[in-house]
Amino acid sequence: HASERESMMLVTEYAQEFYSDTLWNTESGKAIGLSYFKERGFSEETIRHFGLGYNPDQWDAFTSAALDKGYSLEFLEKTGLTIVKPATAEGSSEKRFDRFKGRVLFPIHSMSGRVLGFGGRTLSSHKKQAKYLNSPESEIYHKSKVLYGIYYAKQAIAREDVCYLVEGYTDVIQLYQSGIENVVASSGTALSSEQIRLIRRLTQNIVVLFDGDEAGLRASLRGIDLILEEGMNVRICSFPQGEDPDSFARNNSKDAIEAYLTDNAQDFIQFKAALLTREAANDPIRKAETVRDIVGSIARIPDRIKREIYVQECASLLGVSEGVLFSTLAQLGKKQA
Ligand code: ATP
Ligand code: MN
Ligand code: MN
Ligand code: MN
Repeated sequence: HASERESMMLVTEYAQEFYSDTLWNTESGKAIGLSYFKERGFSEETIRHFGLGYNPDQWDAFTSAALDKGYSLEFLEKTGLTIVKPATAEGSSEKRFDRFKGRVLFPIHSMSGRVLGFGGRTLSSHKKQAKYLNSPESEIYHKSKVLYGIYYAKQAIAREDVCYLVEGYTDVIQLYQSGIENVVASSGTALSSEQIRLIRRLTQNIVVLFDGDEAGLRASLRGIDLILEEGMNVRICSFPQGEDPDSFARNNSKDAIEAYLTDNAQDFIQFKAALLTREAANDPIRKAETVRDIVGSIARIPDRIKREIYVQECASLLGVSEGVLFSTLAQLGKKQA
């Protein structure tokens, strides 16, 4: 429903203004939110550019400000910015809470720059609080259809003809601040085909930059196959154990980051072959699984000529005959059909 969506976006855009006004112009915003972002190495210009904000650590500071401004509770609830707890039979009255109470906020924009939702990071180190909390799924926010940073990155992606894909909000922001602007994040959700198609409107080339930990590695492996299925070229770049693009970019100049990316980004097949060969070592059974795994990725490439080239590359990397690889590929093709 168009007018419902528009009402939801208006309240979400008001929230973005409220959170950022709180960050810059209130005592708690400055002392807690703004100093948090500065401690992470974000400049004032960067904080403004990305529209970052803070929701006071009170039950309903945002909700009551929005209601005072005339925004309706219906849309505050539908966007998930306010959580409504109905009155109970025992007589306690209806309660309204700010979803993002006490969190710093990263507004998530559509390709055309409308605010659709938020990612909110906790500032407390209590393990029971989720580190990041996102807007819930709604008429306007579908997490699998948005990419964090796409509005800021789209021109640079088209110009550079490559898109860097990272895991988190802070990775996008830190790289952007370092002068690498063609970067987006899937932000907490597993990468989806819809997200990849958003990038494909701008370039055919993706470089996946994943966190130097086991979770990052697994997520990047799932992402590779999806990107191949969309017919795009995918390179992979890993970071040292315990580092992510944010921490790496914070400690290095633009030139050093670019040099690192150039030296370490590998075509997907080299990346997978090196990784799986290391894991399989000299075990023939594991090595056979490795070959099948890589052929499984190649099978997803829609373009037949590219598939052939990768089969040749795979054969020489792993020391297996092309004939065997082609027949495995054909078997996989039959199973998929
Ligand atoms: P930070 O540097 O702020 O600690 P990060 O961006 O490096 O965070 P990771 O732990 O590497 O965070 O996770 C990558 C992304 O996954 C986050 O940016 C966030 O979008 C999402 N994420 C992480 N933890 C959670 C969580 N508990 N709930 C929902 N999403 C999460
Ligand atoms: Mn991580
Ligand atoms: Mn990370
Ligand atoms: Mn991080």
